[in-house]
Amino acid sequence: MKTKRLYYQDSHLKEFQATVLECSGVGEVYEIVLDQTAFFPEGGGQSADTGFLDEVLVIDVQEKGDTIYHKVTTAISPGMKVTGRIDYENRFDKMQQHSGEHIVSGLVHNTFGYNNVGFHLGKELVTMDFDGKLTQEQLRVIEFQANQAVANNLPIQVSYPSREELSALNYRSKIEIEGQIRIITIPGYDVCACCAPHVKYTGEIGIIKLTGMQNYKSGVRVTMLCGFRALQDYNKKEENITQISVALSAKPYETALAVEHLQNEVKENRAKIQHFQQSFLDRELAGITGETENYAIFLEEADMNILRKFVDEAKLRCKGICGAFVGDNKRGYHYILGSCKVNLRDYVKLLNGTFAGKGGGTPEMVQGSLLGCADEIRGFLNQSGSLSVEE
Ligand SMILES: [Zn+2]
Repeated sequence: MKTKRLYYQDSHLKEFQATVLECSGVGEVYEIVLDQTAFFPEGGGQSADTGFLDEVLVIDVQEKGDTIYHKVTTAISPGMKVTGRIDYENRFDKMQQHSGEHIVSGLVHNTFGYNNVGFHLGKELVTMDFDGKLTQEQLRVIEFQANQAVANNLPIQVSYPSREELSALNYRSKIEIEGQIRIITIPGYDVCACCAPHVKYTGEIGIIKLTGMQNYKSGVRVTMLCGFRALQDYNKKEENITQISVALSAKPYETALAVEHLQNEVKENRAKIQHFQQSFLDRELAGITGETENYAIFLEEADMNILRKFVDEAKLRCKGICGAFVGDNKRGYHYILGSCKVNLRDYVKLLNGTFAGKGGGTPEMVQGSLLGCADEIRGFLNQSGSLSVEE
């Protein structure tokens, strides 16, 4: 049963009258065949139109051969006359993206000879895969030329050439398909076989913004936003840049520079903190002598690398165990213990057992975390530190 495709007569048709020819139940879904439709079925990287047949929601549209099936959840009897209404906002959005894609793919093909080998028109993302590499500069040039095509407001022509005409025609997407081939021409930019509805003039596309590019297979995957999608993207980015601009007291065009300054400042401050820590620990180290039995230091914050070096040196100076603890009584502590006299691999089991800790290391140095109060931990060290621990 051949369905008349009204979207080919007028891609801007929002509402139409039709007669139900067939209604068959498949599970909880019914498939409706109409004599004619403005609903574009899923295909060629583009999702199906949605909308209504009278008050019945159309959730999906598929084609099999010449017939188009409208999937609905309520049956409509054959013979009924219905009014079809497509979600036109959604359709127009897809036409903006799809026509934009033809311009970009046509430009890439004409300039570099690369083919579009993959097209996806998703709810948020539109991607095109090309079988050759592009640089960022080349992409910017393509983007500018694509927007020139929009500014020129060219008519998008649809034609159905004969076999002879086709064989003489240079067009993209040349694949052997049975039946009539539909050619979409954007004068000066692209000639391509395509079955999807397009805008009538390139000016309807609005801005064509190529938002990203990554290596993909032997070529690149380019992401694109056209028309109102590009506007939405602009709004989100503007909102973000305004917040950053206010937070950093920088002009919107100078935020990247302001972030760089901030990063440098953070780096400098980190270096200063490390320097203070180092000189504090150097003074501590000077106080540890051969007379020191056990040694423990408790800090709220510390650079663990600096602390590890400190314990490494401190353990050579004291008689028993040298411990550094970072944290507080509530959250618990990260610890580093060092000793040249006590086998810490054994000792740490005792420590972990007493303070619900975990961790380990070498006989000379262990690391881990535990729960407990500083006083209790200090008491434990003083009591047990100079003892050699038996298994
Ligand atoms: Zn197409």
